Amino acid sequence: MSIRVQNVSKFYGSQAALKNISFEVKKGEVVGFLGPNGAGKSTMMKIITTYIPSDNGSVEVSGFNVDSKPIDVRKRVGYLPESNPLYYEMYIREYLSFVGGLYGISGRKRRVEEMIEMVGLTPESHKKIGELSKGYKQRVGLAQAMLHDPEVLILDEPTSGLDPNQLEDIRNLIQSLGKEKSVLLSTHIMQEVEAICDRVIIIKNGEIVADDQMAQLKEEREVEVVFFHVSDKLNTDLISSISGVIKVRGVEKGQYIVSAKKGGGIIGELSKLATKKGLDIEEIRKEEKSLEDVFKSLTK
Ligand code: ADP
Ligand code: MG
Repeated sequence: MSIRVQNVSKFYGSQAALKNISFEVKKGEVVGFLGPNGAGKSTMMKIITTYIPSDNGSVEVSGFNVDSKPIDVRKRVGYLPESNPLYYEMYIREYLSFVGGLYGISGRKRRVEEMIEMVGLTPESHKKIGELSKGYKQRVGLAQAMLHDPEVLILDEPTSGLDPNQLEDIRNLIQSLGKEKSVLLSTHIMQEVEAICDRVIIIKNGEIVADDQMAQLKEEREVEVVFFHVSDKLNTDLISSISGVIKVRGVEKGQYIVSAKKGGGIIGELSKLATKKGLDIEEIRKEEKSLEDVFKSLTK
């Protein structure tokens, strides 16, 4: 197991930022750590990377306990903190070489060049960090996190504040990294998780409210949403009274959006109702429900 978190709690004064959290991340998994602001994502990541201690519970990275073996953990963890702290006065190569020195990397010069290439910094590589755009600064942060070739990558909101092109580049990069490493990535952007993660852990007020495979989460938590269009007005009460129907919204005359529990054969039931009332069905189709809707329903 790459990361094992067991019954972790963390208090800031009397405020509980994490309440008895447990989860694991396997080798080669890309796990999205999703939750609204203030949920406890950064706090959890600081504990995994040995930046702050927990108050209760235990955390292991590649089998090493963060409290008793912090140096062994740091050797195996790459961390991109939320604020991406960098030395703006340093040149990219200078900075990465400095970081390489801290980790005692042998063949530092070659490794720095490798990283510059891997994260796509080559065209900007002659610049000082302070001269870079946000997207390129983020690449320096990623290069820094991966320089010592860690088994585990902890990325705290790696794509926040990037424009759509930069976003796609960084996402692709993380996805390709994820093939060899275990990645825990925090975000409050749903599409991000949908785009790059195998699994998603949703945290709210310091507690885990969901831990699911991506595909499973989408399927299981979904209610079916059906667009139903018939030739004349229907009494919405008739639709509401079908078993499993949660919500009916009239759009225009004869047009309804119906939410129903999955697996209740709602399309068949709606068709029957139309036939019974002697109405023609103009259109009936399932709407895709986004993970965003699922997230909202879980964290509200
Ligand atoms: P997230 O990263 O999910 O936005 P954080 O882990 O940063 O959440 O914060 C969780 C909660 O802990 C928030 O209520 C935040 O205000 C509080 N918190 C975080 N860091 C500190 C700190 N150093 N001192 C006091 N409270 C903190
Ligand atoms: Mg945070």
